[in-house]
Amino acid sequence: RPLVVAIDGPSGSGKSSVSKEVARRLRLAYLDTGAMYRALTWYCLESGIDLSDASAVEAASESFPLEVSTSPLEEFVRVGGVDVTQAIRKPSISAAVSSVATTLGARTELIRRQRELIDQHHRRMVVEGRDITTVVVPQAEVRMLLTASEEARLRRRGIQLGGSQTAEQLAAQVTQRDAKDSTVVNFTRAADGVVTLDSSDLDFEETVSAALEIVDS
Ligand code: C5P
Repeated sequence: RPLVVAIDGPSGSGKSSVSKEVARRLRLAYLDTGAMYRALTWYCLESGIDLSDASAVEAASESFPLEVSTSPLEEFVRVGGVDVTQAIRKPSISAAVSSVATTLGARTELIRRQRELIDQHHRRMVVEGRDITTVVVPQAEVRMLLTASEEARLRRRGIQLGGSQTAEQLAAQVTQRDAKDSTVVNFTRAADGVVTLDSSDLDFEETVSAALEIVDS
């Protein structure tokens, strides 16, 4: 029986770790769509493609040889056999990814690949991103928007990046990326039928439990 759990939210909402844990507990496959946009960004930069050239980015999205893990138990992203799991998390990629993600032709291609992966897993998957509940699988059995206050998000982000940059730089980067992303996808407000889960005052375990309750309801 199909069970697609679609989870959207802004950066630093704790989306990835919560989605992965929900997939483990429910024994579902797992897809991090943000990793796909990051991998395409890595590939474009590596190939010397000008990110403001929409047709070049679109063409790259169609030919790029991506392999992404669909298991919540192991994380890997490979492009043409090169392991980019760590490389796509670098600040240089985070700073450039919105340019790629706002290229509509590239989105069309990545969405096509995401739907293909969901079908390959017999529609039993937790899928997380920015436009999953609204565009990729609006017909998902469970749809939620994971939010957190700006304060909570920056705190988590700071921890994630190891505190190597100043708080102000971090705050500006995250805010800029969300602002640019929101020009093409709306993940700041829940669409009709999408349940909002605000994790600002919840710890990891509490957030996972709340998400599992939404799945059960
Ligand atoms: O989730 P993560 O922060 O890794 O996503 C990286 C970027 O990928 C986002 O900032 C956004 O530009 C893009 N993205 C997107 N649509 C998705 C997932 C990610 O545009 N479904």
